[in-house]
Amino acid sequence: MDYQAVLEEVAAFARPYVGHGQVADYIPALEKVPTDRFGIAVADINGEVYGVGDWEVPFSVQSISKTFSLALVMANDNEDIWKRVGREPSGTPFNSLVQLEWENGVPRNPFINAGALVVTDRLQTLTGDASTTMLHFLREESGNPDLAFDQAVADSEAEHGDRNAALAHFMASFGNLENPVPSVIEHYFWQCSIEMSCRDLAAAGGFLARHGLRADGSRLLEAREAKRINAVMLTCGTYDAAGEFAYRVGLPAKSGVGGGIVAVVPGRCTLCVWSPGLDSRGNSVAGAAALDHFTSLTGWSVF
Ligand code: GLU
Repeated sequence: MDYQAVLEEVAAFARPYVGHGQVADYIPALEKVPTDRFGIAVADINGEVYGVGDWEVPFSVQSISKTFSLALVMANDNEDIWKRVGREPSGTPFNSLVQLEWENGVPRNPFINAGALVVTDRLQTLTGDASTTMLHFLREESGNPDLAFDQAVADSEAEHGDRNAALAHFMASFGNLENPVPSVIEHYFWQCSIEMSCRDLAAAGGFLARHGLRADGSRLLEAREAKRINAVMLTCGTYDAAGEFAYRVGLPAKSGVGGGIVAVVPGRCTLCVWSPGLDSRGNSVAGAAALDHFTSLTGWSVF
């Protein structure tokens, strides 16, 4: 596969969509990002990375971090996390409270905010410092020792974090948090604030394409665990548009309100695309168009 040529064709296809959609403004620090950005990278299973456009420009990973926290928890704790969080699509927005009450404080899946807070809570118990553990893991997997938190984004999110605090307190009232709410939401905001480029994220997500093997060849996850994470990405990873995303793209993927989307072709490669304009569900407009074209061109969907 001539990845460079494919990415250039994909970028040309996506170009008319760049600038469409809205930049997330509920976290004020994200509002400042120009909408005309577009980058895409692919890391093959041997760790070679190819990219075009703004593929080396760092952006806020936001909810893409939820994939890595889930992987780190499963790596340490096998499948116990599934006693505290489900794995069904929610059909409600990522920060919705209503379902939690009906379902006794057990979130539908690990990729809505409530579910991610439970996962971060568990990572905090397992490691004593959930967000720093994730940062170190991402530095190692991406090969980029300069990865860092963005303090302005973390602070901005904490200032406007009433909804996430409410979700965490609500779950605590059902006994579904092990750590104090302030510590759980702080680590969650820090993990979301990590800045990475498409290059970094495609490389860091390589273990999902390598059936659980890390960049250095050691095993992070059993193959069946990597399969399970990819499955939950496919069904729940792109907000309440996961059905539409599977229909168009046909790959496990996780998006974030920073405009990034990581997608996995198991056994072959991991992609990351970034363009900050979001559709009404919270997925990057140009990013989704690019991935749609990538799987059409290559035939590499999981279907
Ligand atoms: N930190 C964001 C929040 O909790 C993440 C949102 C996202 O990317 O989906 O609202």
